[in-house]
Amino acid sequence: MNTKNKLLLMVTLMLAALATATIVNVGLNFREFAINAAVDKAKLTANIVKDGLTAHMVNGIMDKRKYFLDTITQNNEIKKLWIARGQNVIDQYGKGYSYENARDDIDKDVLSSGKMIKKVIENPEEVKLRITIPYIADSTAKVSCLECHSVNDGDILGAVSMEFDINSVRNASTITILKIFGINVIFIFIALLVLNYYIKPYMELFANLRDGIQKAHSGDFSHRFDTRVSGEGKEVADQINTLFHKMQETFGEIKHSLTTFVTKSNLGCSDPLYEAKIIIKELADIYKFKKTIELDDTKELVFDRIITVMQTKYDIHNFSFFEIDRTQKIREPIYISHKSYCDANVDKNVDLCRAYRTDTDIVSTDFPNLCSSCHHNENEYICIPFDINDEVSLTLNIVVDDPAKFEQISMNVTSIKNYIEAAKPVIESKILTDKLRDTTLRDGMTGIYNRRFLEQFIDKMAKQALRNETNYSVLMLDIDYFKMVNDTYGHDIGDIVIKGLAEVIKKSIRDADLAIRYGGEEFVILLNNASREGSITVAKKIHDEFNKMKFNVGGELLQKTISIGVAQFPDDANSIWKCIKFADTALYYAKEHGRNQVIEFKPEMFEGEDF
Ligand code: GH3
Ligand code: MG
Ligand code: MG
Repeated sequence: MNTKNKLLLMVTLMLAALATATIVNVGLNFREFAINAAVDKAKLTANIVKDGLTAHMVNGIMDKRKYFLDTITQNNEIKKLWIARGQNVIDQYGKGYSYENARDDIDKDVLSSGKMIKKVIENPEEVKLRITIPYIADSTAKVSCLECHSVNDGDILGAVSMEFDINSVRNASTITILKIFGINVIFIFIALLVLNYYIKPYMELFANLRDGIQKAHSGDFSHRFDTRVSGEGKEVADQINTLFHKMQETFGEIKHSLTTFVTKSNLGCSDPLYEAKIIIKELADIYKFKKTIELDDTKELVFDRIITVMQTKYDIHNFSFFEIDRTQKIREPIYISHKSYCDANVDKNVDLCRAYRTDTDIVSTDFPNLCSSCHHNENEYICIPFDINDEVSLTLNIVVDDPAKFEQISMNVTSIKNYIEAAKPVIESKILTDKLRDTTLRDGMTGIYNRRFLEQFIDKMAKQALRNETNYSVLMLDIDYFKMVNDTYGHDIGDIVIKGLAEVIKKSIRDADLAIRYGGEEFVILLNNASREGSITVAKKIHDEFNKMKFNVGGELLQKTISIGVAQFPDDANSIWKCIKFADTALYYAKEHGRNQVIEFKPEMFEGEDF
């Protein structure tokens, strides 16, 4: 049964219950009323009988009493009337007429107890009230009973019994009840019609809402809700329409944006909200992964993270991971869980690796013996190639020893690639950093990079930063009035001060940052991926740390100050050399304006030609 019918049935039952209660109440009241009216009439008649008999007695016409009693019973409602003599009267005057004896137990009970008895006799044909009222001796009445009767006050002289016809009341009550019933039926019918008229549009709206929401579950927010109802119902429909419109627009965009990160195929579900949740979770995981590896010192640590992701997130345990030197066409294993299923020659000639050579994912189920270099022993395999840069590639060789897991692993390939994609710039930068570490382009006195290093690598680093959307903060440092140190204490002391500054710099920067001895006592620092505020904080830290340094010169303590100019790449200029120039401009500004300070580059400081 639908909600509308349930509601109508409930209202019908409630109204029917109300009607029944009314009918029962009216019926009972009628009955009560009829009985009470008959009792009142009986009491009145009994008094008339009593007074009549007294009058007959006083007038000495007691022998005419039957006529008198018959006259009274000519009333339609009084069906029968008789009197019964009490024992006192019988004792004094005899039994009287035969019809004056107690006729039944009720008469006898009243004659012995002196209490009125009434009884309603009901059967299908008729309803009648049988009532017997005692006749009690009373000396205070107008004509004292004791004048004629040898009795005491309160003694029972007799009883008046009557039978009243109260059929007419029952008939009237039945007609009234029928009328009430009829009125109620009409009222209930009209109430249901009105209720149905008002409920119907709401029920249509609910059905409409149910259909629309069902569609929305499968990502279709195109449904619009049309309703005949006004007021709150219309408001609800309008608001849901606005919400659906918003959802349709925004969700479409979100879905489009998200699927560019993670392809749908590996989700395996048709609920787009659930899909979005999975994709966002995936992106959040990748973001956390990326944040973690960015702080790792070496590319080996980054590789370890990828291996951990394979094992813990994807539950893949039989796989090999290789680093390929693209220039020399050789490869080195990064990790082999069990054994390499590849031909040994592949290590020396990576072109034998089908995945690397074709730069496509190799899935063994695509074709029998797909990769001729793979000795997979009947196991299925998936090989994923991944280029890091022109010199380095990675390959991941997953062997599926449990066929039941093959489908699941193939669905995760895109996701695994997303992780390696996220790791790519980090691996690339670690490779570069490793290269730089090994280079001899360092300053012999301080151990940090020299200017030649900057000239060789800076363009490459800048390009990489632009590609990966990272940035560098450029700090240019120069010791204030350094010539004085040389002039006053000699060149060796000057060297010690320069080395002191280099130590402060080394301690203040991270692995991903670079420090270069740019000139005599001038240094350039490139802070990787630092915010503007962060770069000023580092500059101030170096400034303060160096200023605190005390150099012991033959018992005398020497302290120096530095000035620092700061510029941002690519915010201030999209050429790193221009940024170095701007940092130098800011440094010059610091020197001109009192030295011993950190100054951030502002365009108005630069007066030279644009280059
Ligand atoms: P300013 O505050 O304007 O920078 O004054 P300054 O005296 O420090 O001037 P400037 O930076 O031009 O001085 C650089 C001096 O550094 C010139 C040179 O004699 C000295 N110098 C350069 N290389 C070395 C070095 O390797 N050892 C020593 N001891 N001195 C050096
Ligand atoms: Mg100087
Ligand atoms: Mg200088």
